[in-house]
Amino acid sequence: MSDFANVMVIADQLQNDLQPITFELLGAASELAEKLGVKVQAMVMGHDLGDIPQTLIHNGADEVFVVDEPELADYTTLPYRRAVITVLERFDRPPHIILCGATTIGRDLAPRIAAHLEVGLTADCTELDIGEYIHKGKADPNKVGAFENCLYAIRPSFGESLKARIIGPWKNPQMATARAGAMVPSKPDTSRTGAIIPVKATFTESDFRVKVIQTVRDISKAVDLISAKVIVTGGAGVGGPEGFEVVRDLASVFADSAVGASRKTVDAGWIPYAHQVGQTGKTVRPKVYIALGVSGAIQHRVGMSNSDTIIAVNKDESAPIFQFADYGVVGDLFEIAPLLKKQFQKTMAGATAQ
Ligand SMILES: Cc1cc2nc3c(=O)[nH]c(=O)nc-3n(C[C@H](O)[C@H](O)[C@H](O)COP(=O)(O)OP(=O)(O)OC[C@H]3O[C@@H](n4cnc5c(N)ncnc54)[C@H](O)[C@@H]3O)c2cc1C
Repeated sequence: MSDFANVMVIADQLQNDLQPITFELLGAASELAEKLGVKVQAMVMGHDLGDIPQTLIHNGADEVFVVDEPELADYTTLPYRRAVITVLERFDRPPHIILCGATTIGRDLAPRIAAHLEVGLTADCTELDIGEYIHKGKADPNKVGAFENCLYAIRPSFGESLKARIIGPWKNPQMATARAGAMVPSKPDTSRTGAIIPVKATFTESDFRVKVIQTVRDISKAVDLISAKVIVTGGAGVGGPEGFEVVRDLASVFADSAVGASRKTVDAGWIPYAHQVGQTGKTVRPKVYIALGVSGAIQHRVGMSNSDTIIAVNKDESAPIFQFADYGVVGDLFEIAPLLKKQFQKTMAGATAQ
């Protein structure tokens, strides 16, 4: 038996559907737990969870803590926080590691848990590993020492140009959220067995300051930026929500296309978040990326610079996007986009005729 406590995964479920990130977390947790010689634990919160706990066991969990309460039917921060804390309070020793998805829910919940436990949290990791660390820094003599079996929470940094290994071995649990799509998902094995442990949450009245009145599904979630071959993106240069018409119009020329957006336009409410490209949006790599009225800030660039061909239209010749675009047009997007449309149509018609 290892000296280390276990690796805990906080399962991500939405409307009683386990989100794909949960399987990635279980895959990563199984590897970490094997290196530490410990168990994989999972916890899941919600209502009428059905066979979700069993699915977690089939996918690598040895023990599943289940908080199944009507108050947890919809995700809200404080009741879910309370449920997680109730589970953690069962242990004499906290888990060695806690993993959460870097999803909308995980990004909201994980910092609440870390703040409650007064531990660090590394957000948006793309790799996780176990290793040693020797701290020699003199600033705090209490921190000096050699630490084995630390969580290496690895994530891109400095505009994704470096991989940072972030370590916080001084207090457990060592917490991280993982970016969707970055880790290898667990492989289900229906012969796996494990313990399912129901836990009764002890809510307080103050946990219910927020009430979900209605859930409106955003149909724009269907925007498929990840697999589109051509993305036409509008930046603040489009001037308002109606300015996206010219973006959509150009995108409509291509069969397999999607409309992207800069964060500035999303923050302004001109277009839903599902369209956002960049550090806090989607990372895309289409064959052609056409940026209309986008300045090319580093946070936008990191989400699209792996596109095969980048075409930028901007009326400011000193806009940063021209430093990394393959083709640049200095001019008003409202004049240039229709010309591009015509030209693409002509070229594609010619290609079909041949
Ligand atoms: C932590 C953090 C995370 C962030 N994440 C993201 C992210 O995920 N995605 C993202 O995009 N941003 C992100 N940002 C914001 C980013 O820093 C920029 O503010 C944003 O990308 C700017 O958007 P923009 O290019 O549309 O707007 P602006 O920078 O205002 O650029 C508008 C451009 O349009 C041009 N223009 C204006 N009118 C016209 C016209 N008629 N024709 C042609 N050109 C015209 C202007 O010359 C200008 O270059 C993030 C910022 C932070 C701090």
